[in-house]
Amino acid sequence: MTDQRQTRIVATLGPATDPPGVLAQMLRAGLSVARINFSHGQRADHERRIAALRAAAEEVGCDVAVLADLAGPKVRVRGFRDGPVNLVAGAHFCIDAALGEQNGDINAVGTDYTELAQDVQPGDRLLLNDGLIQLRVLSVQGEAVHCEVEAGGLLSNHKGINKQGGGLSAGALTAKDREDILTAAALEVDYLAVSFVRRALDIELTRELLRGAGGHGRIVAKIERSEAVAALESIVEAADAVMVARGDLGVEIGDAELPGVQKRIIAVARELNRPCITATQMMESMIENPVPTRAEVLDVANAVMDGTDAVMLSAETSVGAYPVRVVETVARICLGAERYPVTERSAAQFESHFARTDEAIAMAAMYVARNGRINAAVALTDSGHTALLLSRLLHGIPIFAMTEHARTRRRLALLRGVTAVNFDRGARPYERVAQEALELLKARGLLSAGMRVLITKGDQPGSGRSNTLLLMDVG
Ligand code: PGA
Ligand code: MN
Repeated sequence: MTDQRQTRIVATLGPATDPPGVLAQMLRAGLSVARINFSHGQRADHERRIAALRAAAEEVGCDVAVLADLAGPKVRVRGFRDGPVNLVAGAHFCIDAALGEQNGDINAVGTDYTELAQDVQPGDRLLLNDGLIQLRVLSVQGEAVHCEVEAGGLLSNHKGINKQGGGLSAGALTAKDREDILTAAALEVDYLAVSFVRRALDIELTRELLRGAGGHGRIVAKIERSEAVAALESIVEAADAVMVARGDLGVEIGDAELPGVQKRIIAVARELNRPCITATQMMESMIENPVPTRAEVLDVANAVMDGTDAVMLSAETSVGAYPVRVVETVARICLGAERYPVTERSAAQFESHFARTDEAIAMAAMYVARNGRINAAVALTDSGHTALLLSRLLHGIPIFAMTEHARTRRRLALLRGVTAVNFDRGARPYERVAQEALELLKARGLLSAGMRVLITKGDQPGSGRSNTLLLMDVG
């Protein structure tokens, strides 16, 4: 019971998770949120995988959320006539939107992004293939961007282009993204992630499109552009959750900035009551190896200590050799790292003002939990909002969110420290609801006699707003 892991695990589905039994094993190992990546695969693949996931969750008896991740306007080179080219330092290379799809060679390659020539000037640095290849812009003529190769390497079809410092101004939603939003709505995903967000408006537009298509999913802002770092607070406020998308972010802002920015994104997300996912290359070497490097162990642990809600696996699970083992490994590292508590939040939280009743209740809960002996918090909730607030304010105390709404339980699967439990308040005598909630948790082995528990609830059933704080001892 004292061994409850608080940090949540997001893992990407793919060919490696398709074999029978793998998803159930991943769920048993601690998978909470499954990611569908719209950058790969067809609608039929996504449908099939989500159906298999839901069947596995049914089998295991857990609530798992689905996070669909839009591909976004990633700027890419077009293809090469005779296969990949090897660019060498000092050579000249040209990116030219006027070149056709398969017309690339050792001297030049095309791009679908016709505005590239307008977005760069001599002296800018372009990074290809996740920063492996570095180009310095020499001159721009029409649609052709002439460069010198600063760091060479192998360049193959459709590799990404980033500009150091940001500023490639492709809009946030492509035609494919708009199609995929309809798919996400039809598949009833719990979270929808927006790639290459530039500003709050991108989030609002995505939410509108998803709602218009009948989707209920919450919107995740992927922070992976320099512009998004500059507008961080407004983007986080517009979104329901945040992802530190370190792959593209690292290329845009550079590795010297990346660690500080990761910490800042997590801190801002917590302050604004949004859950945060730390993503990309966390266990990269486990794509091929059965054990992680020490650096990867420390990276996962540091994200936990920074206060992230969840850590994410990408290729490690979607195409890796050890999709179950990597989840087990991350779970173990998170649990260990949690024994070293996150630095206490600032006193500012005590000074903050609140408008909503449930915020007042959550603040009172925080005060009680910090200054008295409290072993757990129980939120009787409909929307899950009180559980979210408690998870921002209470550190290291398990929070049980009890609700009969499956959608709420799935959404809460992303939150650090929150365990959602199926509990139908309406079906119980009003005066005995809190008592019965504790009895259920005790019967499940989640609480034991002698524990002191905080309980939040709304005192009018179904009102949806917590206005009561109880202190109870488990008998
Ligand atoms: P991606 O996003 O895997 O969709 O590129 C995550 C990242 O950039 O880190
Ligand atoms: Mn990305």
